[in-house]
Amino acid sequence: MRTYVNTYRRTLLDMHIPDWDPAFLAHYDPVELADRYATSRIEGVLLYCKSHVGLNYWPAPVGGVHAAAKGRDLVGELVEALRARGMRPAAYHSVVYDNWAAEHHPAWQQVSATTLFGRPNHGFSGPRYGLLCVNNPEYVAYEVEQIQALLRRYDFDAFWVDMVFWPTVCICDHCKRRAKDELGLDEVPAVIDWASPAWATFQEARTRWMNEFWVTLRDAAHAARPGIPIAHNLLPELMGWFTGSMADEIPRDTFAAGDLYGGRDEQLFVSRLMHTLSRGAVAEYMTSRAPNLQFHTQLRSERELLLLALGATAQHLAFLFIDAINPDGTTEPAVYERIGSVFSATAPYEQHLGGTPVSDVAVYYSPRSRVQWDANGKPVADPAVWERSEGAYERAFLGACSALQAAHISFGVITTSTLDDLAHCKVLILPDLARLKPEETEAIRSFVAAGGHIYASGTTSLADTLGHRSQDFALADVFGAHIDGRYEANVVYYRPTVPEVADAISPEPLLSWGARESRRAQPRNIDVHFLGNLAEDTETLAAFTLPYAYPAPGSLHDHQFASIHSSPPWTNTERPALIRHRFGKGLAIYSAVPLEAASADSIRQLFTTLVRSLFTSSPRIQSASAAQVWITLFDQPERSRMVLSLLNYDREHQQDVVALVDVEVGAPAGYRIGGARRTVDGTAVDHTISSDGTRLSLSRLNLPLFEQIELPLVKEF
Ligand SMILES: [Zn+2]
Repeated sequence: MRTYVNTYRRTLLDMHIPDWDPAFLAHYDPVELADRYATSRIEGVLLYCKSHVGLNYWPAPVGGVHAAAKGRDLVGELVEALRARGMRPAAYHSVVYDNWAAEHHPAWQQVSATTLFGRPNHGFSGPRYGLLCVNNPEYVAYEVEQIQALLRRYDFDAFWVDMVFWPTVCICDHCKRRAKDELGLDEVPAVIDWASPAWATFQEARTRWMNEFWVTLRDAAHAARPGIPIAHNLLPELMGWFTGSMADEIPRDTFAAGDLYGGRDEQLFVSRLMHTLSRGAVAEYMTSRAPNLQFHTQLRSERELLLLALGATAQHLAFLFIDAINPDGTTEPAVYERIGSVFSATAPYEQHLGGTPVSDVAVYYSPRSRVQWDANGKPVADPAVWERSEGAYERAFLGACSALQAAHISFGVITTSTLDDLAHCKVLILPDLARLKPEETEAIRSFVAAGGHIYASGTTSLADTLGHRSQDFALADVFGAHIDGRYEANVVYYRPTVPEVADAISPEPLLSWGARESRRAQPRNIDVHFLGNLAEDTETLAAFTLPYAYPAPGSLHDHQFASIHSSPPWTNTERPALIRHRFGKGLAIYSAVPLEAASADSIRQLFTTLVRSLFTSSPRIQSASAAQVWITLFDQPERSRMVLSLLNYDREHQQDVVALVDVEVGAPAGYRIGGARRTVDGTAVDHTISSDGTRLSLSRLNLPLFEQIELPLVKEF
């Protein structure tokens, strides 16, 4: 039976509308809205039951009810209208953000640690938002009662909860008491220090408390409606340490879902992350009809909306459009006309989605490594703390994803809560991954010992998540080297010591990597170390060459430089910078700098060359096509086929720019490939198949926009 969780075309109408003006929502008409949805070919509707304003759109037994819903049941009317038109409803419910509760129960509010520094009490969203503390038992009981009543009253297909994260570092009495009782802290730490056990264990506690709150709500929802599919927004898991959200609980939800606004490159890595996190149903990629809903009337071009939706189709995900209601309760017809034409274009491909995404490598996503070491000593009142400022790990992680995509090396994502996926992985990338739990370190070590191959870089495994930063790698035995002092300049030179590295960076004689993009930019604090005490069988692939007068930065008066604009290489050393080491049945490559964080062509060449050198068999997907072409492959052995998608995902959203695609794909073990035809009309696609039948190539395929190609599989006996 079709329910919300197996629809692919979905929508959500933001309704964060207060009720202090009688004109608000005066023209809201659930029947008209349902008609509009139906003409837009929408199948699944996520609908507001309670917004951040804290007002329910149904007769809730506790809490606020919107004035427009007094004497009416706006939720019930919309649910009925949707079902009458064959659409499937799911419930949206906001927690933590609840202005009604904050105004009526001020004692339930979060108290931001910024108030210790004389700042007003609000979170990073600003002063409009009332924020409740999940450590307050009365607040939690209120949410439980509301949620259970909601799910008992209506027959929703799914339950979707927003805002399960910390928008402040809360120092309310309940948080203080838990910090004292559970962590022995007399004061809640309000100054960042990732090298302090007090600060780091407090941050872990914030995560644990938020996880406990979510588990309480999820259990309460299941108690009220056994088996109802449940999700909570994964966006906060991508925002850094401040939210306390570390993707720990998402694999135990029914499906992963999140509203994303970062465009194409973010969509790629989040889609791959969603595949590992979403364990019970197809994941939901959500984005708004405007580039930024803060500019209420904006609407993206049809081409841009189409590319976003086809991006979800290429990744075999459900796509959800977010619209925002006008305060008077109306919506704009043009929005739904545009959604309708986009969904008409994506609908024919849906019946072919599903299966297992093919990836040749996995990139490790570590929310706990999204910290800035150079923020140590800053008070949490520093506005920079609220911003999503990029730390070294984000630069390396996003750089790795971007470099892999550009080289068409298909990747999946593994994170702390999905370590069991390592069993299906052959090559793992650890991009400057500083903070690992002991169980993560152990899982990585076992992975390599059992035959896995890794690329690791930078500070990987130098710190744990409890405030201990070590002088050596926890994975030193795996890397085959130890730390031997800190590198102290802002530009690093690698001198190749083997031909494969020299060839990868050719014609550049040395690789140059820096943490400063221009002379006007402040040099970033770089966290690079020399290596020493190598294992006997560790192979050096490149060595450090030092700039003139290293480590002196040079000045007008000290004459400690060799060229005024730059610090060219000068002194060759034998000190290893890039190494390779066999560990157990596996293999590790370690680079002292995170090569993947740089966008320079030669550095990317070296990074992707190293990754390819870790393959033990031909990758399932190979292509030399333009970087903007998304190539995905899904195994569907139960339908005796693979599904190959090609999307010409031009970031500028231009019409009529045709890509030429060359791609070779391999069959899963034990199968041969029987041909290639378009799913939508069954027409054959020109191809060649290798003599053993296991690989298929498409050459110079014209790709104006999107192709979905079925590759039949024949089982070998
Ligand atoms: Zn609190």
